[in-house]
Amino acid sequence: MQKSTKAPDIDEEKIEKLIQNEFVAVIDKDIEKKLKEIGYYKKVVRGEVKCAVCGKTITLDNISLIIPYNGEYLFICDDFKCYVEALERWT
Ligand SMILES: [Zn+2]
Repeated sequence: MQKSTKAPDIDEEKIEKLIQNEFVAVIDKDIEKKLKEIGYYKKVVRGEVKCAVCGKTITLDNISLIIPYNGEYLFICDDFKCYVEALERWT
């Protein structure tokens, strides 16, 4: 349902800014370790964490970003639109 085959209209400058932005963590294979570090691993496994943009439940498979924000963390799913939206809102 959330799978989209069409690439959204993306400004490459925005992506570059996102990648370079130091308060956005781009997560890959160290997801579990990172989540345990920040104390969110169990919450994610239990399905208690939602994408801060679209509200979809975050799982170990669909996390794309963890953004430290106001002493907490925002989680972004792997929908590229959320990725870009997160950039605009929180960077
Ligand atoms: Zn999302």
